[in-house]
Amino acid sequence: MVNLQAGKNAAGRALAALGRAEFTVAAHALKQLPPDQGVEVACAGRSNAGKSSALNALSGRRDLARVSKTPGRTQQLVVFELDPERRLVDLPGYGYAAVPGALREHWGETLSRYFETRVALKGLLLAVDIRRGLGEHDRSMLFFAASRDLPAHILLTKADKLGRGAAGEVLRTVRKELAAEFPQTTAQLFSVPAKTGVDEARVVLAQWLAL
Ligand code: GDP
Repeated sequence: MVNLQAGKNAAGRALAALGRAEFTVAAHALKQLPPDQGVEVACAGRSNAGKSSALNALSGRRDLARVSKTPGRTQQLVVFELDPERRLVDLPGYGYAAVPGALREHWGETLSRYFETRVALKGLLLAVDIRRGLGEHDRSMLFFAASRDLPAHILLTKADKLGRGAAGEVLRTVRKELAAEFPQTTAQLFSVPAKTGVDEARVVLAQWLAL
């Protein structure tokens, strides 16, 4: 009972903070990021995994993540400031092969350096379409996080597309995979239309963002 109330309070604090999020910068290079102080959470996922919809649902805002989808922003870290000490960093959706090899390599290096060096980074929120499961790029992101003991949390998105039993089955399977490969990673079901797991995810963000 106490935990339930504490969870609700934390989810409320996350909603309030995310509701104040403001676009700050779209950075091509790490030196364009805001000073490395305070705390930030990175959000990642394959293109079309439902990351933007999730960010909008978590923040109670319709248009928060739209700016990240502007063409040309495929290789930028899009920063949203919640307050002077807290940020969300939206990483570009991956999975489309449209980026030429050398550029992709450069970007891969930028991302890996971001994960290696960014002191403010406190967690990775990863959107994974429940019907696809963990892909190669998802594993790369989890690997980046694991390399520095950063916690990661997976939203198994579009859970409404599967029946309750099937969705629960995928969650169990993914958790088993994670326990073996990335033990610092947690996972949950998430659905925007069914409002599944929205508060659960907010509680994780509240913890990482020290809200
Ligand atoms: P992004 O590329 O990862 O940012 O993905 P979007 O948030 O743009 O979502 C991709 C598509 O999936 C859109 O057509 C969304 O409407 C749809 N979508 C996102 N979340 C959900 C969900 O929870 N349930 C269902 N049924 N569709 C979703």
